[in-house]
Amino acid sequence: MLDVVDMVTAYDVVVAGGGPAGAATALRLAGSGFSVALLERSRFDRPRVGETLAPSIQPLLQGLGVWERFVALGPLPSWGTRSIWSSTAPAAHSHLETGYGSGWHVDRRLFDRMLCDAAAAAGTSVSLGTSLIDCRYDGRWQLTCSNGHRLTARVLIDATGRSATIGRSLGARRIAFDRLVGITAQWSGVDVSAEQYLLIESVPDGWWYTAPLPGHVMVGMLMTDADICRHHNLAASAPWRNHLESTTATALRVDSATCLPTTPRVYSAASHRLVRPGDIRPWLAVGDAALAVDPISGSGVPRALRTAEAAATTAARLLTHPADAIPLTTYESTRNTECTTYLSTRADYYAIALPHPTPFWTRRQLTAAS
Ligand SMILES: Cc1cc2nc3c(=O)[nH]c(=O)nc-3n(C[C@H](O)[C@H](O)[C@H](O)COP(=O)(O)OP(=O)(O)OC[C@H]3O[C@@H](n4cnc5c(N)ncnc54)[C@H](O)[C@@H]3O)c2cc1C
Repeated sequence: MLDVVDMVTAYDVVVAGGGPAGAATALRLAGSGFSVALLERSRFDRPRVGETLAPSIQPLLQGLGVWERFVALGPLPSWGTRSIWSSTAPAAHSHLETGYGSGWHVDRRLFDRMLCDAAAAAGTSVSLGTSLIDCRYDGRWQLTCSNGHRLTARVLIDATGRSATIGRSLGARRIAFDRLVGITAQWSGVDVSAEQYLLIESVPDGWWYTAPLPGHVMVGMLMTDADICRHHNLAASAPWRNHLESTTATALRVDSATCLPTTPRVYSAASHRLVRPGDIRPWLAVGDAALAVDPISGSGVPRALRTAEAAATTAARLLTHPADAIPLTTYESTRNTECTTYLSTRADYYAIALPHPTPFWTRRQLTAAS
């Protein structure tokens, strides 16, 4: 299905973004016989966040046919979650009750790279270190990559994550629901053998998340709002470490670290929904680009893989029945329903907590009430 015309390479589908959502969408479409190109801006050589995978990831990886590749990465089993949320005593939730036995703590560079490798093995043309920088539609997508290559596609997939760069450049509107950020650093040389669980601890400015990673590493992350981060300069090493010292259980987890944490990095963790009223051009947003959720839900990566399945089915239908706009409408309305359900679940999470009369918690109380 692939032809080369005047140095422009033609594909059925071009996917921009090689995170879990983009790689899984490409893998499914290539596996169904379509010609697919996957463009990924990075080379998976920098740390990536989202390291704790819920037990529900197992059937999704099995459905993609990548379970053996996943196990070969040597992920750490995650036995459950402990949360210091609305009282000082940790509440424990075991993954043994889920039917899958455990969740997983992974190095996201390796995990995301593994999914891209699987997409390539299924026949996807994968370009790392390559961004999609321009797209126009004239009955076919005319696409320009950062390396100067030009591609055409019948269907375009925006899998660029929270930035939703492609969809927004096409005129879709991002509705933001909060200003959450994650300020994260890692410690190496930590004995994590007795620490294979996710710990969440609420503090006046937000909440801390700590989780072990393969290779005797612990990752720590302060989740707060962007304005609070700026006001207290929490992205700088010393204030971030002082803040950690104010916790009860979180700081104890990294007591055995043989070195200081890495310099903190700030990631947007804001929830948003990308809406595209009335646009029937053949493009779809998938994963965080379509709907980005609060990491408190622990559902980011499983959700990305689930929407990839829906996006692949919709894209396949657009390719085989180009005059039929119903699949696009159905896809968007399912994402809207997903968004409504998510907002109600998020309100429930924060309603359990509310332990501090501070802006971070008061904002969430107001959101839950509205
Ligand atoms: C602080 C934080 C903590 C989190 N913790 C968890 C967790 O513990 N568990 C969990 O399940 N989820 C967690 N998440 C959410 C999870 O990381 C995301 O839901 C998941 O990565 C979404 O996958 P995605 O493929 O949609 O987007 P991403 O993983 O963001 O991938 C998007 C990709 O697109 C690429 N890209 C961007 N623009 C372009 C372009 N123009 N051209 C080509 N490529 C481009 C980027 O380089 C990136 O690789 C967390 C998120 C944050 C912010």
